[in-house]
Amino acid sequence: MMVTLPEWMNIPMNGEFQRRLPKHEFVAGRMSLDFCNTLSRTRQDADWDRASTPSDFLEWTQRCGIGLDRAPTAQALARLHMLRDALAEIFDAVADERTPAARDLAILNAELADARAAERLVPTDHGFALADGARAAIDRFRHTVACEAAELLTGDLRRVKRCPDHECLWLFYDGSKNLSRRWCAMDDCGTKDKVRRFRKREAES
Ligand SMILES: [Zn+2]
Repeated sequence: MMVTLPEWMNIPMNGEFQRRLPKHEFVAGRMSLDFCNTLSRTRQDADWDRASTPSDFLEWTQRCGIGLDRAPTAQALARLHMLRDALAEIFDAVADERTPAARDLAILNAELADARAAERLVPTDHGFALADGARAAIDRFRHTVACEAAELLTGDLRRVKRCPDHECLWLFYDGSKNLSRRWCAMDDCGTKDKVRRFRKREAES
């Protein structure tokens, strides 16, 4: 029997790319933070970007479960990269309890204005709802990221965190009751830390 794979699964992925996919790719709990994490945040991995090319980006959205119908144009992707860079800088500043740079806030504000301009009231069974009227899915994605980032920044900033592992530094949202989440993933950086501390204790005893 012939098994037909969904079209997107036929996109050739080279072995190197697959090997380098992180153990947990979507740990942030918020899409805008997961999107920031597509670009490596550590120096030794400076060239590692899972959303670098239009097809890389499309594959990332598909793994993420976002129904994008096609890869973005180079221009649309460049705009997304600009937003991603600004968001990463802003969230890093938040995690460090610094004031974000005006330049980065201006980029986010421009994208927010664009998202708001695309809002349309649509009738529903119970009245009306606000929907994104942008025709291109890639624009709706960018709007969603910008609006979600704004929501995070106007919420409890203590919940925007960065993994303390020096080789990781991924951003994530701490949704725990007592703000106790420390690692991007307990069975990844959290475990590495446990092993490190165990070895240190062993060496000291
Ligand atoms: Zn981590």
